[in-house]
Amino acid sequence: MRLILMGPPGAGKGTQATKIADHFGIPAISTGDIFRANVTQGTPLGVEAKKYMDAGEYVPDEVTNSMVRNRIDEDDAQPGFLLDGYPRTTAQVAELDGMISFTGHKLDAAVVLTVDAEELVQRLLKRAQTDGRADDTEDVIRRRQEVYASETAPLIEVYRARGILVEVDGMGEVDEVTARIFAALDIVPES
Ligand code: AMP
Repeated sequence: MRLILMGPPGAGKGTQATKIADHFGIPAISTGDIFRANVTQGTPLGVEAKKYMDAGEYVPDEVTNSMVRNRIDEDDAQPGFLLDGYPRTTAQVAELDGMISFTGHKLDAAVVLTVDAEELVQRLLKRAQTDGRADDTEDVIRRRQEVYASETAPLIEVYRARGILVEVDGMGEVDEVTARIFAALDIVPES
């Protein structure tokens, strides 16, 4: 199973990614988490990425693409993977297509979570209090929403045209949203 999970910042991608990936026994690969781990460890990748992340901008495609390529080459990702927060630009879409077709596989579905704009900002401001993420300040939150709208939202139509788009209402409780995702993917929940 090869899946991508899309949606604006605050849509609940990270939370849902783990649940979906656990169901399929595949790794949930979050580019944001990998960048943050590198920032914490002070690696050259982290130093580079932090400049963009703190401003709410995207890390350049070459940097992000090679990081994802290395990650999905690892053993645990051979049966499949769920990408959380990648691809985010049309250049990344093309790169991912290349990575997947090279292995003779295909992308099974692109799940997109939709959430009202105001709800997104409220959720992120709440997360700022609990998690203390450097990019959860109001100005940066707004910038991240703008970048999502201009760079990433157009990808929804790309995957719709391919017939693999799965749109899910991301409003409401975590478990309700998970149930909607599972239903949309035709997954029978484990009891
Ligand atoms: P996230 O945790 O998914 O909200 O990502 C946090 C930040 O990491 C983003 O605001 C970007 O600066 C960076 N980032 C994560 N994924 C990507 C990507 N696919 N392309 C470029 N930058 C990314």
